[in-house]
Amino acid sequence: MPDPQESRADIPLGPPPLPARWDLEAEVVVIGAGATGMTAAIVAAEAGASVIVVEQEADIGGHAITSGGNVPLGGGTRAQRNHGIVDSPALLFADLTDWSVVEPNGFPDYRYNDREIVRAFVDHNVETFDWLVDHGVVFVDKAPDAQGGNAVGNSAPREMHCAVSHWPMVQTGKPADPAEQATRSSGNGLMRPLEAAARRAGVRILLGHRMVGLYREAPVAGRVLGIAADHAGRPRAIRARRAVIIGTGGSTGHVAFRRIADPRLTEEYCGLAGMPWSDQDASGELAAMAIGASLWGTYNQVGEFGFNLTKPAAIGCRYGYQNLRWYPGSAVFDRAGAIGLPVKDWQDVITVNMLGQRFYDETGRGFTTNNYNSLDPYTQGSWRNVERVSFRANNWLNAAMAGIGDGHNGGGPIWAIFDAEAVRREGWITEPPHVDRAGGFFFEADTIADLARRIAMPHQRVPMPPEGLERSVARYNRFVATGVDEEFAKPCPLFPIATPPFFAAWATPVIHDTRMGLRIDARCRVIDRSGAVIPGLYCGGESAGGFSEHGLSRAICQGLIAARDAVSPRPPAG
Ligand SMILES: Cc1cc2nc3c(=O)[nH]c(=O)nc-3n(C[C@H](O)[C@H](O)[C@H](O)COP(=O)(O)OP(=O)(O)OC[C@H]3O[C@@H](n4cnc5c(N)ncnc54)[C@H](O)[C@@H]3O)c2cc1C
Repeated sequence: MPDPQESRADIPLGPPPLPARWDLEAEVVVIGAGATGMTAAIVAAEAGASVIVVEQEADIGGHAITSGGNVPLGGGTRAQRNHGIVDSPALLFADLTDWSVVEPNGFPDYRYNDREIVRAFVDHNVETFDWLVDHGVVFVDKAPDAQGGNAVGNSAPREMHCAVSHWPMVQTGKPADPAEQATRSSGNGLMRPLEAAARRAGVRILLGHRMVGLYREAPVAGRVLGIAADHAGRPRAIRARRAVIIGTGGSTGHVAFRRIADPRLTEEYCGLAGMPWSDQDASGELAAMAIGASLWGTYNQVGEFGFNLTKPAAIGCRYGYQNLRWYPGSAVFDRAGAIGLPVKDWQDVITVNMLGQRFYDETGRGFTTNNYNSLDPYTQGSWRNVERVSFRANNWLNAAMAGIGDGHNGGGPIWAIFDAEAVRREGWITEPPHVDRAGGFFFEADTIADLARRIAMPHQRVPMPPEGLERSVARYNRFVATGVDEEFAKPCPLFPIATPPFFAAWATPVIHDTRMGLRIDARCRVIDRSGAVIPGLYCGGESAGGFSEHGLSRAICQGLIAARDAVSPRPPAG
């Protein structure tokens, strides 16, 4: 089922024809007001360039403002030095390219990183930390640690945490509790100070402006001249006299694009982390590819580590990502639909596929991630590191995506099935705004057979056979009685599903990070499919490929590198 929010298809396969006239112009045009874009805009404006940022949403921030605000910056930052933590760019580089580190399921985190891109990143960590502090970001006053980190290197603690501060949070529409404002980490504390700094520096931020194409002198040759944008249905041609910087935040929301990396990721994976605050619709990648750009580092997208794919932590709603809840005061709550039911104990539910069949131990985990202290001892580059990892498949996600044998590549919806007793144990409220009944993400009935009959929503491609769900529940209840799950070895299944009413709540895997993207060089210049620089075009963050680190710091560093290069006095890119 094409979903307009997940599969926007307004970027043509080829470049747009050059405009007859320009509606607006600036020296630097930045696409996206997230972590990459806002940083780039400030750096360029403070260097004296005129800057326009186009942002397709109604507010700035991108995924960065919805984030946990955990910023991994190492290499010997002031914060690390103040707490006696030994780190250096060389150590960080060796960490982020260490071939010998693998996850418990055998997938390497760092092996496929592009050395040129990582080198540039590590060389800018220390100054990026200072730059953030100088631009109003307040870090929680404590030693760097490993919390929230995800493939950030194993040798030293590097995570810094942006204090949430006093601005209304996008998740709730209200400021955080004053008692927590200096101690709680949030993307709010990163992006609102950067927004203020951008406005102080004279950056022009055009909200509700969607980039839909890049203008280049010739279709696949010459300089990039500007962008085609759409503002409430009106086309706008925006000239970039020096450079265009892409900070569009990745591609995992675009169904066809994400399937380049993993054909299983069909349309039913519709509840991406960070959405619906902002999209991850591959527009930057597609527009750049239309003028010749190359993709890069595609392994990093399929590697089974970190948060590329996650088990939902809240059920009964479309957006069940483990670290993000939407509440009724949020400006996007009407699009989010429900808060969701956080699952404390997966013993309280069974998870079934479209046919009502169980497929894995419900307490099974998602993928894990390497970080400081996750290998003990860790010896950089040593073949022995692998011996310190004990194999665990972590296969709930893969089993959920195995499908029902009908030839479709995706696994279809996954439903958590439970009864009234589970609701009592978990303390759930099974009405809106906690669950999304209207959107088809939550169902209730007095019998198991009726529950199966009620499950109807566009991604449920086949009706759930009532007898299939009845069989699964009856079998599971027998396992509870004997204490042994003969099918999936759930450790000591505890609770029967026996007390009406019965419930089915959306529990489908959640896609998160983009870790493949456009090919860039050390200066963040976009490279074409013949290996040549595309003059005047830059990219950073989740739309850039070659670097498998989760999140904020690569986006901020690359925004800084790109803008510096774009406004440097030497002849611009190319
Ligand atoms: C819930 C959540 C928690 C997270 N927690 C952390 C964390 O604690 N630590 C960490 O390091 N990382 C975290 N991350 C990841 C981190 O937020 C992202 O990696 C980071 O924001 C990526 O930066 P970016 O600039 O590439 O994209 P974004 O910050 O997402 O910005 C992209 C912007 O571009 C805009 N845009 C896209 N296409 C267009 C277009 N065609 N025209 C105009 N505008 C466009 C988008 O609307 C968006 O505003 C988290 C992410 C989520 C969703």
